[in-house]
Amino acid sequence: MPAVGGTLGEGNNAQIELFYQVARELTATLDLNQVLRRVLEVTIKSLEAEHGFFFLLDAKGRAVRRLSAQTNASAEEIELTTVQLLERGLAGWALHHQEVALASDTSVDVRWIPYYDAPWETGSALVVPLIHGGQPNGLLTLTHSRRGFFTPRHAALAQTIAGLAAIAVENASLHSKVQEERTILKQLVDRLPEPLLLTTKRGKVLLANRAAKALWSLDDAGSAHIEHLLPAAEMMAAFARARETGEIQFACLTWANDRCFDVSFAPIAELGIVIFLHDVSDLVRLNVLKSQLVATVSHDLKNPLSWTYGYASVLEMEEGLSDTAQQCVRGILSSLTRMQNLIDNLLDLYQIEGQGLESGTGASDVAQAIRTVCQEAHAVAVSKRQQLRIELADNLPPAQIDPLRLTQVLDNLISNAIKYTQEGGRICVSAVQHGGGVLVSVEDNGPGIPQAAQPHLFEQFYRVSSTATAEQEGTGLGLSIVRAIIEGCGGKVGVRSQEGKGSTFWFWVPQAQLPL
Ligand code: ADP
Repeated sequence: MPAVGGTLGEGNNAQIELFYQVARELTATLDLNQVLRRVLEVTIKSLEAEHGFFFLLDAKGRAVRRLSAQTNASAEEIELTTVQLLERGLAGWALHHQEVALASDTSVDVRWIPYYDAPWETGSALVVPLIHGGQPNGLLTLTHSRRGFFTPRHAALAQTIAGLAAIAVENASLHSKVQEERTILKQLVDRLPEPLLLTTKRGKVLLANRAAKALWSLDDAGSAHIEHLLPAAEMMAAFARARETGEIQFACLTWANDRCFDVSFAPIAELGIVIFLHDVSDLVRLNVLKSQLVATVSHDLKNPLSWTYGYASVLEMEEGLSDTAQQCVRGILSSLTRMQNLIDNLLDLYQIEGQGLESGTGASDVAQAIRTVCQEAHAVAVSKRQQLRIELADNLPPAQIDPLRLTQVLDNLISNAIKYTQEGGRICVSAVQHGGGVLVSVEDNGPGIPQAAQPHLFEQFYRVSSTATAEQEGTGLGLSIVRAIIEGCGGKVGVRSQEGKGSTFWFWVPQAQLPL
């Protein structure tokens, strides 16, 4: 490579040749260590310096890496000198002014602070800041034992080389940052305790972490296909949905030996589909235990409860009870009814979680069921000065639903409407023939339900937390049972609601094949 004192001084061509070579040297690699070493070597060589050292700077101008000749100084000594150099030495001056600092005679230049115990003689020195995007990312110091060796011509040349070096350092720093992040990410994914796969959109596995390899005993993830790893139909359906909709999809997977996973399929544009398996086996086991416990306790409570109800009913008919005693008995009976309902709901829940509710056996007269339930609810509505109206289309066909279950559904929806609607409100229960079945709606002008809560209404134990309804007593079970009953007979259920305006809960049940 040509140098400043040699061919460089002899013409433009030589300078161009030098810059070309410097650029080639600096862009030959992206490895940060190598780039830093090359920057140092290339500059020392082209400026014919004797020694040099380099500081890599962070965004705050602190030295994050140093490159220099051997030294016996301790780490603390080096650190201390570095700070001094950057604050008030020749390096500090270059950093502050963002231009080359030239000390042609270090013995008289007060800015010159020797770099720790550098064993060589320094007569003149040059510090070159590497500026990228207006921000210094490195500092290069060149020294020569001869005073007056470095001249403004060296400074000008050093400045140009520094421009090239700054780009090389920036690129290598970015590259090294990307590499570091990639390594961290890879380790993170690999050490996740739960299985994770990345597949192409066609299902070819591109990446499997350790837990996934262990789960499927995979040696070579690259030859696996999702079809073989998750062959169940609902898994492949969720995979296809994720690919087609571009939205995350979920499915439940039961593995041999009683393991259960919540599987998520997250499509990532241009990359593929990330499949994550979350082991929920313990939760599922606990849930079964909880349901069994609730069922056993509820079942065992039923008998003493009905005995108590019987005794209280007899007591109510007793003559000569004082007003207070009568009031107490009525209170006992209504509390017992609430307990009975709760127990019935819990037992239904257990059944739903087990084999589901088979509610489609039998045919029901929907109009009659609505009249009966409204008649029973009438007293409560009146106590709240509410208007409870019925609108029934003529000639409704019989519906394919067990009559007791239909009553339970109507009871739930109508009593909810009464419970959650304010005093003086309006409730209307209607039924029409629709799409090969009967469509029933329970409409109120109550507080309505916030948009965000609506998708969760039919989940078990879900209660809306808005102040409009939260103060009412409840368990959050009613609507989940309604859904199980309606779906158990092949029907559909839903809600339309607007906050402040009211709600309409509706369900559709298919027409019965046989007459009533
Ligand atoms: P519960 O009434 O025991 O809380 P449900 O499952 O029947 O349980 O209802 C779930 C939630 O839905 C209720 O807590 C209530 O917030 C809301 N909700 C149900 N019906 C209505 C209605 N007609 N108007 C406003 N909110 C309702």
